[in-house]
Amino acid sequence: MTLAHISRRPSYILVSSCLLGNPVRYDASHKRSHHDVLQRWVADGKVIAVCPELAGGLPVPRPAAEISQAAGGKAVWLHTAHVVDNQGTDVTPAFITGAEQALRLAQQFHIRIAILKEGSPSCGSSQIYDGSFSGTKIAGQGVTTTLLREAGIHVFSEDRINEAAALLAQLEQQ
Ligand code: SF4
Repeated sequence: MTLAHISRRPSYILVSSCLLGNPVRYDASHKRSHHDVLQRWVADGKVIAVCPELAGGLPVPRPAAEISQAAGGKAVWLHTAHVVDNQGTDVTPAFITGAEQALRLAQQFHIRIAILKEGSPSCGSSQIYDGSFSGTKIAGQGVTTTLLREAGIHVFSEDRINEAAALLAQLEQQ
């Protein structure tokens, strides 16, 4: 092992808390991923868990929320769309605060890769719901994913952990 290897900072990975088995979803459930790479990262102490919606001050359980007007996270940051729950409450401020907390955590641990839960209005990376609460999915990303990507962090869903691992291996060589 070279000195460069010894002094290299460990690579931490930001992961949606619900993917780690924590019951933090709107309905107090979790979406534990049993992916072997994720299990290895957890065992190696490389995983930093975050639930942006809890970090933004929302409770468990909470009403389901979607980004309005079939828009994505970017529109929320541009103030042209809102995050609204199924009771009609505008919960945008909590989603913004939670995203900022997630970014702060990522920066604190010099994180370059995140694995976030697909489909969520916070954590979705390629699909979200269209705001009609009809179960209709559209292409798009959540509020936290948008902010992390703007900051240069590579965000993958739980379906793309192998790609994330390959990129991490590349980044660790640099
Ligand atoms: S905000 Fe993200 S981490 Fe929290 S429950 Fe939703 S998908 Fe999971």
